[in-house]
Amino acid sequence: MKLEQRIQLEKIFGPEQVLTAVEDMVAYSYDASHAEVQPEAVVFATTTEQVSELMRFAYREGIPVTPRGQGSGLSGGSVPIKRGIVLAMDRMNRVLDFDPANRLITVEAGLTTAAIDPIVAAANLFYPPDPGSVTFSTIGGNVAENAGGLRGLKYGVTKDYVKMMKVVLPQGDIVILGNKCVKHVAGFNMEGIFVGSEGLLGIMTEVTLALLPIPAHRESALAIFNSLDDAARSVAAIIAAGVTPSTMEFIDRATINAIQDFKDCGLPRDAEAVLLLETDGEKHSAEAEMARVEIEVAANQARSFVRAKSAEERDRLFAGRRVALNALARVRPNLILEDATVMRSKLPEMVRGISSIARRHGLQVGIFGHAGDGNLHPTFLLDMRDPDEMARTELAVTELFQLAIDLEGTISGEHGVGVEKKPFLERQIGSAGIALLQNIKKTFDPLNLLNPGKMFDMPVESAV
Ligand SMILES: Cc1cc2nc3c(=O)[nH]c(=O)nc-3n(C[C@H](O)[C@H](O)[C@H](O)COP(=O)(O)OP(=O)(O)OC[C@H]3O[C@@H](n4cnc5c(N)ncnc54)[C@H](O)[C@@H]3O)c2cc1C
Repeated sequence: MKLEQRIQLEKIFGPEQVLTAVEDMVAYSYDASHAEVQPEAVVFATTTEQVSELMRFAYREGIPVTPRGQGSGLSGGSVPIKRGIVLAMDRMNRVLDFDPANRLITVEAGLTTAAIDPIVAAANLFYPPDPGSVTFSTIGGNVAENAGGLRGLKYGVTKDYVKMMKVVLPQGDIVILGNKCVKHVAGFNMEGIFVGSEGLLGIMTEVTLALLPIPAHRESALAIFNSLDDAARSVAAIIAAGVTPSTMEFIDRATINAIQDFKDCGLPRDAEAVLLLETDGEKHSAEAEMARVEIEVAANQARSFVRAKSAEERDRLFAGRRVALNALARVRPNLILEDATVMRSKLPEMVRGISSIARRHGLQVGIFGHAGDGNLHPTFLLDMRDPDEMARTELAVTELFQLAIDLEGTISGEHGVGVEKKPFLERQIGSAGIALLQNIKKTFDPLNLLNPGKMFDMPVESAV
């Protein structure tokens, strides 16, 4: 970055909020995926006006800008692959308004997701989307990726809770999108287009989110299976029986053992798969739903069904699921985690397909994920220094995406396209679909300066 440009950035943000040293650029060169590129500068925003000034500056100078929450993304979304400036949003982390009467909270986009619940619990409210990364990811990152979580089956995903947002558009204009009313149809559903926009269309600085009353009671249990197929079939059977558990997480044997090696969470090492289940609501209805779940898993050959008898037992089981990725990360030098998703009725086919792909290519795979949403995380465990194993994994990943598409599913349920799934998007949405996305991007960002190189390529004439 030129000295005059750094001086301009320091004028906007203050000298302490601008980094250019190599060691700092390394720290902001990656997220939780495998993409890695160093920026030329990192700036820390504390106000919407600073973000607006930054974008005006970037447009004048032709410099790419990549917004970043906490860099926990799993598809390379906050990696500055065309270099330029990383805009760190995590210092915009204030709660601006809590409105219990309307069950709304307005926060700055850099607030950590888990910071919301302790504030709203006093009014017996909670914020339902709970990604595994809830204690470190930001609301801005959650909205940009449409993050899901363990409670997605019953409570939906981030898009179901976004009411209104303040956004800085790529050329620096500040707009308010959406509304706090329950009903709002004045104009296009513009806040909707920002959910899952992966930082390509504008920078969210404030977000108003809907809240729900905390359920009075929770019932938690673990269903243990000797066959992957039986566990997968149980998922569809439970839903078909009219029960909507708040959580229905799938964990296979490889993942169970990795978790137990990492931390004893009481999971059975000899099971082929377990389902971690929770029902909630009024005590009698949560209990009745769990009783029905027990009947359905028994009908699908569950080996046993263990109910958590205390909050401590429940927390121990859930801790196991939350550390699944970290635990698998210790098994081999590297992992490649995917989130191809299918309708839950197709889960048995998907699980069989994943196992068969891994077997055919001689690869180790751990499967866990949000089974109730049909959103599994097949995780290939490998050593990326081994070119042969790497090549086999790449083939397996391609086959996995194709399998999801063939089953009418999607290449990403919640991690987004970013850098790593970019080559596969056209297979899913077709060339006309890509052209539509390109045209939308061009309308917002004619010079392609905001988070360029992600999700899809732009036609050559407007690429950076
Ligand atoms: C252990 C672990 C578990 C995870 N579990 C889940 C899970 O259960 N469900 C799930 O959905 N994801 C999960 N993730 C993925 C990740 O945490 C989510 O995608 C999360 O939403 C990213 O938030 P972040 O603040 O880290 O964003 P980043 O990774 O920093 O950024 C993600 C994207 O959002 C954009 N962005 C960030 N802030 C803004 C903003 N203010 N305005 C515009 N664009 C912005 C970035 O440019 C980037 O494209 C997990 C990740 C890890 C490491």
